[in-house]
Amino acid sequence: MGDCIFCDIVEGRIPSIRVHEDEDFIALMDINPLTYGHLLVITREHYPSTLDVPDRILAKALPLAKKLAEAATLGVGAPAFNLFVNNGPESGQEVPHWHLHVVPRKSPKELPHLGGGPADLTKLPFTAAAIRENL
Ligand code: AMP
Ligand code: ZN
Repeated sequence: MGDCIFCDIVEGRIPSIRVHEDEDFIALMDINPLTYGHLLVITREHYPSTLDVPDRILAKALPLAKKLAEAATLGVGAPAFNLFVNNGPESGQEVPHWHLHVVPRKSPKELPHLGGGPADLTKLPFTAAAIRENL
């Protein structure tokens, strides 16, 4: 894939600080970390979104993220962590090559909290129905 910074990392064309490699994934230090110890788990293949990643690869992603989260939290002395994936520019995804963020956390105040407001309970069943129709 041309012009993809993570493909460049996978191919070794630009440097990265790696903590893990296997046949499907590379885990590396985020260059602009949200917190101390912020890691990215990236696929070796170029997939823009989670919807594009084959299930056989996705099935390996969470066990790997779990292992890395345990190592990262122990490594930096953080009691907690976030795991998240941005999917699409509207979600905040800046690099359109699948990656999972592993973010060690020492305090809820380190990052803005994604708090929502109360749901409109008259609309919630219709929202659920719209989702169910697409399952
Ligand atoms: P996202 O907004 O989910 O696409 O996240 C992209 C992440 O990639 C950000 O946290 C960036 O700091 C990180 N990033 C961008 N370029 C590099 C790079 N060359 N090496 C390591 N991390 C990077
Ligand atoms: Zn790529």
